[in-house]
Amino acid sequence: MFGFRSFGKTNTVNGIGKLRHALEQADAVIIGAGAGLSTSAGFVYTGERFEKHFHDFAEKYHFNDMYSGGFYPYDTLEEHWAYWSRYIWINRYQDAPKPVYHDLRKLVEGKDYFVLTTNVDHCFQKAGFDKKRLFYTQGDYGLFQCSQPCCQKTYDNEETVRQMVEQQKSMRVPSELVPHCPICGRPMTMNLRCDDTFVEDEGWHIAAERYSEFLRRHKGLKTLFLDLGTGMNTPTIVKFSFWRMANEWPDATYACINLGEAYAPKEIEAKSICINADIGSVLKQI
Ligand SMILES: [Zn+2]
Repeated sequence: MFGFRSFGKTNTVNGIGKLRHALEQADAVIIGAGAGLSTSAGFVYTGERFEKHFHDFAEKYHFNDMYSGGFYPYDTLEEHWAYWSRYIWINRYQDAPKPVYHDLRKLVEGKDYFVLTTNVDHCFQKAGFDKKRLFYTQGDYGLFQCSQPCCQKTYDNEETVRQMVEQQKSMRVPSELVPHCPICGRPMTMNLRCDDTFVEDEGWHIAAERYSEFLRRHKGLKTLFLDLGTGMNTPTIVKFSFWRMANEWPDATYACINLGEAYAPKEIEAKSICINADIGSVLKQI
């Protein structure tokens, strides 16, 4: 992977102080966000939160977490959407339990920043981040697309999802609420990148272009790459690209906050800050 040999350094001495300094000094901050950031904000997919919203599905199918329930091949679309409407409602339309995203926004307010995220839960926009500075690479729970895309379009799903949550009975939504593509009539699905049917709509392409432009303008400046909770599921999107740019850009710093997975490769160790701790608690201390 880009020639990096090994991962060094798991906890930088005085990491929080160094990160505070790097933030103050930076001309630009490029945030890369992954699942760990939303976990820190309280979006947990197991335990009490799962039980509260999915106890009936858990009883019938013996799932222990929301992801497993999402992958289950339900017999009918009515049951599929009974599950998924609840899932989308609590993870996309309700606020995160803890103000981690708000704290992050306050830290970069007034700075030239851009956010690249693999999260699909809309937390950045709900916390007031500037939409023009966000690139959701993997989609959005709040959008529908055609399941066998007949065109590159997405559709806001808030009203439909709300009705499916409110009107479902015995783990089934009324058949007339099952969403179908307005163009070809096939069933709709969420706009999530899980295979090659993912629709990259106009908004996706505009955001991608804005991100490239941001990188191009800041290449020679003092830049802080801030990696928040990205893991090894889709590392090429944020983590590896940040490592590569931090290595190549003359005045870049790479910072990683991740509980249990904070590290940087040896090649950029001297310009890295790694903090192995809960993201929310670190942001409060900066
Ligand atoms: Zn269609």
